Amino acid sequence: MKTLRSYIAGAWLEASAGFRTLVDPSTEEEVARASSEGIDFGAALDWARGEGGPALRRLTFAERGELLKAMAGVLREGRDELLELSRINNGTTRRDGNFDVGGGSGTLAYYAGLASGLGDRQVLVDGDGVQLTRDESFWGQHVLVPRHGVAVFINAFNFPAWGFAEKAACALAAGMPMIVKPATATALVAERAVEMVIEAGILPPGALQLVCGSTGDLLDRLGPQDVLAFTGSADTARYFRTHPHLVGVNVRLNVEADSLNAAVLGPDVGDDAATMELFLKDVAREITQKSGQKCTAVRRILVPDEHLTLVREHLAERLARVVTGNPADESVTMGPLATAGQLEDALAGAAELAAEAAPVFGDGGRVDGVGSPAGKGYFFAPTLLEAADARAVEAVHRREVFAPLATLLPYDGTAAEAAEIVALGGGTLVTSVYSDDEAWLGRYLAGAGSATGRIYLGSESAAGAAPGSGVALPQTLHGGPGRAGGGEELGGLAGLELYMQRLALQGSRKTVDAVSGRA
Ligand code: NAP
Repeated sequence: MKTLRSYIAGAWLEASAGFRTLVDPSTEEEVARASSEGIDFGAALDWARGEGGPALRRLTFAERGELLKAMAGVLREGRDELLELSRINNGTTRRDGNFDVGGGSGTLAYYAGLASGLGDRQVLVDGDGVQLTRDESFWGQHVLVPRHGVAVFINAFNFPAWGFAEKAACALAAGMPMIVKPATATALVAERAVEMVIEAGILPPGALQLVCGSTGDLLDRLGPQDVLAFTGSADTARYFRTHPHLVGVNVRLNVEADSLNAAVLGPDVGDDAATMELFLKDVAREITQKSGQKCTAVRRILVPDEHLTLVREHLAERLARVVTGNPADESVTMGPLATAGQLEDALAGAAELAAEAAPVFGDGGRVDGVGSPAGKGYFFAPTLLEAADARAVEAVHRREVFAPLATLLPYDGTAAEAAEIVALGGGTLVTSVYSDDEAWLGRYLAGAGSATGRIYLGSESAAGAAPGSGVALPQTLHGGPGRAGGGEELGGLAGLELYMQRLALQGSRKTVDAVSGRA
């Protein structure tokens, strides 16, 4: 069985004890083991702070863009190997694996272009300068410079490649060295992706390190210039937010957590409209893609009362076409959940939701998978529930079932009621709203905009190009308020801000412009 290695202070380390086992979720066969026992986290931080950081800060944005371009190329070239590892350890079909792996290289390539466009500068100028006295002899300008610490990434199990790449793209462009810690249960893809980048010799020494296993005493060693970028559950986020040392030295923390995302069908959408077709296609895909293990998956579906029967029938029809099983079998279109623990949690969550919303397709239980031995594999068939009263269900708005399961919620068709029901989820990463009535959409935005990080407007005019609400595009923000974590990632240049310090430069306009690089 393969033993995963960590890359610390320029050496690949293999632990000899303290292992956790990684399995193939389609067969439950053991595929690898991982442990971080014996890692000297002090040495890791010293290498990053002492060598990686200064080396990256010496580069211009354009030079960092070249590094990102090379990283994107390496992951693109290694795609087939990574997709195979994703199948073995994440249980993904090729298409679902590519959402992670291809999404990762695409995000790196986007940031490569963005950094190149910033040219030969090392300081990011933020907005216009402002005259502070009667003339330009005293002037103010906000600028951003790289933080002199380490960016630590702690990632969730569902996106081992994209989770690493989307954080690395922003940190590297900003000029910060990185320590990457993937979720242990699915670390196979991340370990190999990092290994490919290290082997290619792209990055300066100290710029990238990898921890396979737990974080040991790393968090207790972080300082005020460091950044902790976390993606995972709200429970783990709470642990970091209240961690005495992290709080004590004020480590900058970004949290990307759970989300009970909603899809809302507007009352104007007719049965045969292109917008209805987009809604049904998007929602069916957002329930089943990556077996529902996406932080951006649709969990709640708001439908005007008069459209409920049609939507229920069409979604059931689409979900019935899903073939659940081992992605090694070519007929399979949806793989298993990633771990035994995830299956157990999803089954308990489905039972909790089914106590207040009736199953209208599937039963929220485990099934045997096509191409897998009977009784083996963490398979969960697509399930659609329906609540009689959207406001009377409590668990549906509270419990994230990380599986291919969503709940239909009837509403009266007003933007105000849709906004109120969506807000019961306590803050989401994305809400998709389907309507061709722009006045209605405007009212929805006013009522519910603050409850989400992104509103995906599905309409006839976007139907030909809309990629689906689950895609976190690097050009626009990813993150959401409240239980979604309150963080922000990506969003073009905004994504660099987590890894940089914004400061105000004050002086004569001539001096400020010269120092900021604006002159
Ligand atoms: P998790 O249990 O919170 O674990 C996430 C990461 O935190 C893992 O790397 C885990 O390491 C690490 N971790 C847990 N406890 C820790 C501690 N005390 N100290 C240091 N590290 C610790 O979440 P998950 O089950 O992997 O991910 C599923 C959740 O992530 C879902 O709720 C999903 O909605 C959310 N998610 C959010 C986004 C987003 O962008 N908002 C994206 C993807 C997923 P080990 O694996 O070693 O335990």
